[in-house]
Amino acid sequence: MSFPARAVVDLSAIASNVRSLRAHAPTAQVMAVVKADAYGHGLVPAARAALAGGATWLGAAQMDEALALRAAGLSEPRVLTWLYAPGAPLARAIEADVDLAVSSAAALAEVVAAARLVGRTARVHLKVDTGLGRNGLTPADLADVLPAGLRAQADGALALVGIWSHLAFADEPDHPTVRAQHGVFADAVRLVESAGAALEVRHLANSAATLTSPQVHYDLVRPGIAVYGLSPVPQLGSSADFGLVPAMTFEAELATVKRVPAGHGVSYAHQYVTSRDTVLGVVPVGYADGVPRHASGTPERPGGPVRVGDRTVGVAGRVCMDQVVLDLGPDATEQPGDRVELFGTGADGGPTAEDWARVAGTISYEIVTRVSRGVPREYV
Ligand code: PLP
Repeated sequence: MSFPARAVVDLSAIASNVRSLRAHAPTAQVMAVVKADAYGHGLVPAARAALAGGATWLGAAQMDEALALRAAGLSEPRVLTWLYAPGAPLARAIEADVDLAVSSAAALAEVVAAARLVGRTARVHLKVDTGLGRNGLTPADLADVLPAGLRAQADGALALVGIWSHLAFADEPDHPTVRAQHGVFADAVRLVESAGAALEVRHLANSAATLTSPQVHYDLVRPGIAVYGLSPVPQLGSSADFGLVPAMTFEAELATVKRVPAGHGVSYAHQYVTSRDTVLGVVPVGYADGVPRHASGTPERPGGPVRVGDRTVGVAGRVCMDQVVLDLGPDATEQPGDRVELFGTGADGGPTAEDWARVAGTISYEIVTRVSRGVPREYV
């Protein structure tokens, strides 16, 4: 393999994170959210690892990912998909025993038509917009749609197996909208159950709510980022505080190392200038590989942290498309080919995706999902 960097994914960390999440939500099942290629960790390997840790459901936003899980032979777990546009291959999803979220009257009609076409019962989770303002039936829409859903259930076209919603401020457990959304959700559950639907699962909690808001665990929790070992609420607790281990390590080899004098500009626009005779090392990954350009560094504000040997240095100057430069210091002994770590578990003080997120002004979700598909994944 000639690519000089890799994302090493520790599958046992994923399994262990799911075990931790189960301990945080002992009365609920776990749906591991594996959308966006399992947050960049690799859809199928990550899904298998989550199942090994005790997840019994998998959640994929895109239908293609849900179908890919089935095509990979994952026939046991329940799989839910929730983002599809008119004309999506609903019939294929129903035949593949994929549960479908329904967020509108039109989607319900399409699901019913697809189920009748293939002569199967579609398993449906009604998505309620309890206040996030994204997809989902408003409570008024829910009341309107329910009779049609129940009629379709009576003639076998669908089974209303779930009701669910998503929180706007799960990462701020005391935010008043958490309580408000919970109240709207509880009303929606009552409405659907009192109308005669025998729901299997009611679900509202993402990672943050799984870890911090037990009152919204219901029957099933839907963690994503925590499955991959990253804290959804870094302001409230680190990964370790929640019993989580970051699963992805992004590492590379130094491509070149050279000595330069003081006053030497580094990378485009010389945003960084060396303050002394020093050694520069080039890491052969850049923004095309997912290194955020917002993590560029200046002498006053170090860029994204990179572990080199037993020290951590910030990116010097602008992040380029396929390389970043490190100021390794005047006494550096590193050689081309030496391993550097952009982020990993954080053990021994090494940098984490959360550290990169802080420097780049984003969230750890974006750091791991953006590691480009061109960067090889290695599984350990
Ligand atoms: N549920 C839904 C509907 C989502 O869109 C997501 C991801 O954003 C999740 C659950 C998992 O969220 P998190 O990664 O914050 O746990």
